[in-house]
Amino acid sequence: MQQNVDRSAFFPRAYDGFTGQYIAGRWVAGTTGATVLDRNPYDDAVLAEITQAGLSDLAQAFAAAKAAQDDWGRALPGDRAAVFLKAVTILEARKEEIIGWLVRESGSTRLKAGIEWGAVRAGMLEAATMPASAQGHIIPVDRPGKEARVYKKPVGVVGVISPWNFPLHLSNRSVAPALALGNAVVLKPSNDTPITGGLLLAKIYEEAGLPAGVLNVVVGSSSVIGDAFARHPVPRVLTFTGSTPVGRHIAQVAGESSLLKRIGLELGGNAPLVVLDDADLEKAVGAALIGRFMHQGQICMSTNRIIVDASIYDDFVEAYTAAVKTIKYGDPNDPATLVGPLCNDSQVRNVTESIARARQSGFRECVSGPIEGRVVAPHVFADVTNDSEFARNEIFGPVAPIIRAANEAEALAFANDTEFGLSSAVFTRDEARGLAFAQRIEAGMTHINDITIHDYPHVMFGGEKNSGLGRFNGKWIVEEFTTDHFISIQR
Ligand code: NAD
Repeated sequence: MQQNVDRSAFFPRAYDGFTGQYIAGRWVAGTTGATVLDRNPYDDAVLAEITQAGLSDLAQAFAAAKAAQDDWGRALPGDRAAVFLKAVTILEARKEEIIGWLVRESGSTRLKAGIEWGAVRAGMLEAATMPASAQGHIIPVDRPGKEARVYKKPVGVVGVISPWNFPLHLSNRSVAPALALGNAVVLKPSNDTPITGGLLLAKIYEEAGLPAGVLNVVVGSSSVIGDAFARHPVPRVLTFTGSTPVGRHIAQVAGESSLLKRIGLELGGNAPLVVLDDADLEKAVGAALIGRFMHQGQICMSTNRIIVDASIYDDFVEAYTAAVKTIKYGDPNDPATLVGPLCNDSQVRNVTESIARARQSGFRECVSGPIEGRVVAPHVFADVTNDSEFARNEIFGPVAPIIRAANEAEALAFANDTEFGLSSAVFTRDEARGLAFAQRIEAGMTHINDITIHDYPHVMFGGEKNSGLGRFNGKWIVEEFTTDHFISIQR
């Protein structure tokens, strides 16, 4: 039994009162009868009680998207762009409120939440440029009187599954371009962040004037609706951002769908930050600190291995250790905090196991500290071996492994000796050397003399190897979310 909620009650007030799903432009309860308490990972305060979606809610969401697809796909480019421009004004007007939600629901520090808010705003502005960028071609062919045209069209309904770590941004990174290019969307956020990963975004787009049914959000347990979402025949594209094992599973299940679909996978990483013998040590230390500890290390592009040339290794370890000891950890709402709480208990277990693994391996523990609640103090281990399990896994926590490389060639071999290939960085005072090194790294993204974490809405984003399939942002996402239709005319 679905229950309508009075929408008008939401808008004079702050964004609040989330209880369930957003389907066909209505705020409705999930039909499973189950509820999940959405809690602040720092202090366990209850933020909302969310009724969980079942298979019938999922079916309704995809049906609503399918019904809305045609009109939205034909909407004038300027009308589609206007939704994003309005969404930006809403984002700006409600900046503090949105940052507050990110801090409370995802354990984001104020620093990270502000960066995420900025990324969402930039993504919306970029989306406003996209409706007019879906341009076709007229191509000469060797046949008298023949004209070959290739029309660029919306691809159709897009299904989006997003993670909890940058919930608003990583949902919007798929949702905004998909909508801008004339596609209806069904979004499934992580159950750790149902509001910032989905319902809050729906509020913003609803208030910005997006027609009912064009964006639908289903919040539910992956064990109930996960496979059905991936297997559903309606979406023409499925984009998944999350871990590599779940991504593999989703790709397999999507392959069983009665209608074939495109799949985009943005998965895990094990980013190396390589410090060559001529690097500016101070800058490398700063980048390795922010790149590892921002958002408690829970970013796919986080620096997961710091690989340092033997000639400056001891100096680096000393300076890095001293710098990491100054990091403030604890309350994410304190503007001075760099390391806040991990997102959930399974994250705490995983990171605790990583620390135990490093200790068992006998790596030198240069910085350590308590684990209190979900706050894990920064840890640094030196003399880590690149082939250890500790270094091979994505830690996704505030724990930094430092690896000694004999020379540049070994540093490159270490950097590439991983199943992942998302982001990476190299530090050197010689730009040409840095470029040559960067070109030999097997990764989708490499940054010379900077941190490993960069995502710009108009610049390609994506990984190699087990870090994923497909590309995000700018003209690359235009290709992912449109399809081409060859239409010829014989005169
Ligand atoms: P996860 O794989 O556990 O979950 C991601 C999403 O998938 C969540 O919404 C989850 O509810 C859903 N899910 C889980 N099982 C499912 C199933 N059977 N069917 C459908 N949906 C299912 O990942 P996470 O813990 O939320 O995020 C952390 C991981 O994501 C890390 O590995 C990180 O590197 C990766 N990540 C990658 C990128 C990128 O752009 N490459 C960005 C952020 C995070």
